[in-house]
Amino acid sequence: MWLNSHTLYPCYYCHHQYFKEDTLSYADGRMLCKDCAKHIIVTTANLQLVAEWVLKQIDVLGLRFMRGYTHVSLISKEKMKSLGFDHAEGLATNTVSTNMFFKNHHLHAQINVVYGMPTANLVWVLSHEIGHVLLSQHQYQFNTMAEEEGFCQLIALLISQRSQNPLMPRVLHKELSNPDPIYGDELRKAYATYQQQGFSQYFQKFI
Ligand SMILES: [Zn+2]
Ligand SMILES: [Zn+2]
Repeated sequence: MWLNSHTLYPCYYCHHQYFKEDTLSYADGRMLCKDCAKHIIVTTANLQLVAEWVLKQIDVLGLRFMRGYTHVSLISKEKMKSLGFDHAEGLATNTVSTNMFFKNHHLHAQINVVYGMPTANLVWVLSHEIGHVLLSQHQYQFNTMAEEEGFCQLIALLISQRSQNPLMPRVLHKELSNPDPIYGDELRKAYATYQQQGFSQYFQKFI
């Protein structure tokens, strides 16, 4: 006989631990704490507001992102799974054309983000995906996929650090301490290089 009424569960989005009664569950299994649940993005209008804010920070940082050729949509977790990305919160699909000299040229992009994530997480995810689009617009290619992910995580970090959202400290901590060899290790590697070289030196190599 045992009592499990004191079991704590981690919030899907901020990783803080909560009792079951203090959480909200989506049908797809995501469990959110009350704090995160207060900030969820479920409408296209709110998605656009966040996207607008992220793009403004891209400009303020001085990154050359070409506006007007990227479409952003909210999709369900199931739809993301059906696209082949079980655990992804965001996905950028770039459309590129190749000319007769085999030179690639970015045409447009589609960014899909998962419905119902809190604003702070959405800022991170959107910034990360815009990083992939930014690289495609400038036709910069890393040697490995892991390095590209590290670069996009760094863009997400630099933009998220500018956010005043009350839950952002939790997201920053979660991402910076992520044990994942790609999303965590490559972020820490890219961040260290960036801090060593400074903004203009670091980014002039890519864009
Ligand atoms: Zn939470
Ligand atoms: Zn990515």
